Amino acid sequence: MAMYVCGPTVDNLPHMGHGRFTLVWDIARRWFTFQGLSVHYVSNITDIDDKIIARANRESRSEADVVTQYEAEWWDAMARLGVAVPDDTPHATHYIEEMVELIASFLERDVAYTTSDGVYFDVSSVPDYGLLAGQPLESLRAGARVEGNDEKRSPLDFALWKNAKPGEPSWPAPFGAGRPGWHTECVVMALDLLGEDFDLHCGGLDLKFPHHENERVQAEAAHKGFARHWAHNGWVMVGGVKMSTSLNNFTSLTDLLEKTDPRAYRLLVLRSHYRSPIEVTPSTIADAERALDRLDSLARRFELPVMGGEYFELASSHDWEDESLELYERVVTVMNDDLNTPLAVAELFDALSSANAMADEGHEASARRLAQSVGALFGALGLSLLAGSHVVDEVTERLVLQRDAARLAKNWADADRLRDELVQRGWIVEDGASGTVVRRP
Ligand SMILES: [Zn+2]
Repeated sequence: MAMYVCGPTVDNLPHMGHGRFTLVWDIARRWFTFQGLSVHYVSNITDIDDKIIARANRESRSEADVVTQYEAEWWDAMARLGVAVPDDTPHATHYIEEMVELIASFLERDVAYTTSDGVYFDVSSVPDYGLLAGQPLESLRAGARVEGNDEKRSPLDFALWKNAKPGEPSWPAPFGAGRPGWHTECVVMALDLLGEDFDLHCGGLDLKFPHHENERVQAEAAHKGFARHWAHNGWVMVGGVKMSTSLNNFTSLTDLLEKTDPRAYRLLVLRSHYRSPIEVTPSTIADAERALDRLDSLARRFELPVMGGEYFELASSHDWEDESLELYERVVTVMNDDLNTPLAVAELFDALSSANAMADEGHEASARRLAQSVGALFGALGLSLLAGSHVVDEVTERLVLQRDAARLAKNWADADRLRDELVQRGWIVEDGASGTVVRRP
């Protein structure tokens, strides 16, 4: 299955909203993979944009310098959140040629027109404009932001290309040097990497209109099949107010990750439906941390395996029997009903209590089986366990991945050497059905 998630503009530290959308779609990706689908996951990096240029000017540095810094911050935050790296992370500036070609074809067919400051898409050329917003065109028109350019034929027309201004980065084009508009980048990169009629296009609710609609109509105008399904995640609220950079209630995700167990944010995200808003406050985070303590106690009691962020759990790697099978089926049922993670998490915490109760009553073997299933199903949602106070550090995680690669290549000498290295670092190394598993003695 092929999915595209609109990624960040790297002009600032990632905020909580970024954390949420990456977690939500990471959870979806992991769940599809767990169920046996082979997922092609693409998420872009917007590396040219008004905000990047503004920061470069403000701080007297180059745009490239700004992008390098904040993209590094981005990947650092993603690694700490346990968000797996996408299969492809296209950068807008690597696709200029393809975007210029698309815009030129729109101009040729009168789907777009030029003004003194750039090239605009004529939304009246697409009969069903507004489809994704689910609102009548009139109300969209009334709600459209009034911009400086009165040469636009309709306030809903959007910029495909912005003409070069002095001191700004620009690229040559037959319709004048400049840089691409944001809506054009995603449509070009998604079609290039995933092909037509790909399965799922995701992003935050704020992207539904106009960004996603503007992507969709460009594909339509280019006579290309585009996303077959769209999915949007809800806001992050702080004291009832939507959190975003533009509203100035910016709280950096980096700050949260430094002060709390990074898994707490994932659990908080899991405990709400992806389409609902969530509240991130010290008390909701503390509540999630208390729940994680229960999970970690279970991991310690039953010595459950510890998995890293790039590890993908697979349903087919486990034997589901008796209580485990019942739990598995209940979780599959709710997850496959529009990813109902709050119900799945509730099932898992109930099962966690049952496993403890069964062990207390002396049913050690079945308690262990159930506990292992709870661990595996949390793993399917990307929530790793913390056996004892030991987290799998980056070096260990790299050694585990290298050993799995060596075993896949039947390079036994390297696999043994990597096992020895892990043992020297104090880990017990086991060969699980889906790869190397490490735990503390
Ligand atoms: Zn996009």
